[in-house]
Amino acid sequence: MAFLQTVLQRYIDWYHLVSKQRERMINSARLLDFPFEDFRAQQHRFAASVYRSIKQNHRLLAEAPTGSGKTISTLFPSVKAIGEDIADQIIYLSAKTSGQNEARKAIEAMINKGLQASYLIVQAKAKCCSCVHDETEIEESGKCSRTLGFYDRLPAAREALFRKGKLGSEEIKLVADEHHLCPFELSLQMLPWMDIVVCDLNYIFDPLVQLSYFRSDRKRKVLLIDEMHNLVDRARQMYSASLSRSQIKLALKNNNSVTMVRAINSIGSALDRCTRQQSDAETICIEVPATLTRAISRFGEQQGLELFGNKRIPAQTLEFGKAIFRFQCIGNLYGDHHRTIAARPVAQREIRLLCLNAFEYLQQIYPLFKAVCGFSATLSPTGYFQQALGLDEKCQSLKLASSFPPDRLQVNICSYVDTRYRQRDHYINQICATIERCYAARPGNYLVFFSSYAFMQKVHDYFELHHAEIDTMMQTRAASDQQRVDFLSHYFDRTNTLGFAIMGGVFAEGIDYLGSALIGTIIVGVGMPQANIQQQLIQQDFDAMQLNGFDFAYRFPGLTRVQQSAGRVIRCDTDYGVIILLDQRFKQADYQRHFPPHWQTQHCHDCDSLEQSLNQFWSRVDGKH
Ligand code: SF4
Repeated sequence: MAFLQTVLQRYIDWYHLVSKQRERMINSARLLDFPFEDFRAQQHRFAASVYRSIKQNHRLLAEAPTGSGKTISTLFPSVKAIGEDIADQIIYLSAKTSGQNEARKAIEAMINKGLQASYLIVQAKAKCCSCVHDETEIEESGKCSRTLGFYDRLPAAREALFRKGKLGSEEIKLVADEHHLCPFELSLQMLPWMDIVVCDLNYIFDPLVQLSYFRSDRKRKVLLIDEMHNLVDRARQMYSASLSRSQIKLALKNNNSVTMVRAINSIGSALDRCTRQQSDAETICIEVPATLTRAISRFGEQQGLELFGNKRIPAQTLEFGKAIFRFQCIGNLYGDHHRTIAARPVAQREIRLLCLNAFEYLQQIYPLFKAVCGFSATLSPTGYFQQALGLDEKCQSLKLASSFPPDRLQVNICSYVDTRYRQRDHYINQICATIERCYAARPGNYLVFFSSYAFMQKVHDYFELHHAEIDTMMQTRAASDQQRVDFLSHYFDRTNTLGFAIMGGVFAEGIDYLGSALIGTIIVGVGMPQANIQQQLIQQDFDAMQLNGFDFAYRFPGLTRVQQSAGRVIRCDTDYGVIILLDQRFKQADYQRHFPPHWQTQHCHDCDSLEQSLNQFWSRVDGKH
């Protein structure tokens, strides 16, 4: 009886605490004004559309150009929806830390204006967990000491966090350490109680990482997805899996467990049996090989507990276990838009379960939310994104024009260059001459973007040889975090930097190069994904749906990369800059029809006409100052 009373009292206390916060949130949200001085007409239109979508339980795809304040334009109306009691919680997804920081800043701005909201930033386990850095957390038995008795210590920690209300990684870590709990698991326990949650896309969309809290539609959750264009490829990866000989080799390294070694070897034998039967180096089939599926199921049954319950398992073996688990899960979800690729040569021996189109899986997730709003600066053509993201024709689409005067930006199309694979080597000289002329017209910070590392390297080598007087930098394939910071610091600390980088890469998206940090981007090529077996299969898959497979697999993803890279130039009201598009295909109507409306393009048929056009532009800019 005493136990029952204690439990009930605890529940009642918690209920009061949560209800009071809910009341505070609703009342303050209702009274909240837009937190910044300037509520521009475009932002107002954007915010109104988001609010309407929430009210009508709709889905919205919003294309809003750079600098239009997308974060606050989506968060503010969502908060107002809570104020009107038509929504309970906001889930804001951003794949990048910079995007999550922006969201936090916008929430803090509203809090500073009187909003009494609680929020949680979910950080990945690998980043926030003490065990990663401290072996002493792991007991002899292989169990993590922070999980033992977790639920006994949870209530006090949960209450402490709830009272804090603003939960970033520091706050979570502090309380987790105080109560000796796993910080990651503790942060997940806070999900149902927070007004706003900011996290990565995989917690909602990845079938292996999806959090159980998001599998229920009990709360009226509003889903806001930043940089929505990235979800097309991210979702494909989330619903794909692979298993290779090299993974098996790694898993066996330093592994002293006889039973584990035997189990891993049996998967290796199954993989060999499946691939050795193939006559070609690479074979495509529509089903998952049954031999491998059986071996993997046996492995899971025999070794699953040991793998995931014992923290002293070598890291490589654990990674292998995760790969096996993913393979099994994707094998179970395998559908019409999957293909299996078996690679036979021993050095590359591998079975890949490729998801060509993840729209059907995404479609099952959206209904778990009251409203879904995806936004980005590049969501054109709308039909492509609606299809690839599984949004039906009822999904509303919004396109906002740029709020910056168009004469601040000049776009030059240099059609005298051909960057198609077979031709491009003949044009390296012209490409380098164009880069040099562009830089000479107005020395400053520029980024030159390419679609492949190999071609970038060639052009860079040639440029260094012939224009040694200009300092250059080049993005490298496996750059560390520090190397990335160093690369970027050249742009923010100096004024004459010529960087070579990759379209769709880390320097091409999500970074605000304000003012003189960047005065021009030079785009070499139309950004298409490399033609390989995977892209061919994606093309065929769209063709089979009576869509234009080439456009959907190559042209549109390329255009998105081009626009994202080019869009780094103008980030605020005071920016000026140039975009140079180097490829004769940019002249075609099939490309130009999808350019942003604020791009006023000028055609240049050689380096001289480009130089003339650039000189005129920079003179106009100087005249205005
Ligand atoms: S439970 Fe796992 S992730 Fe959390 S602290 Fe322990 S070992 Fe790390």
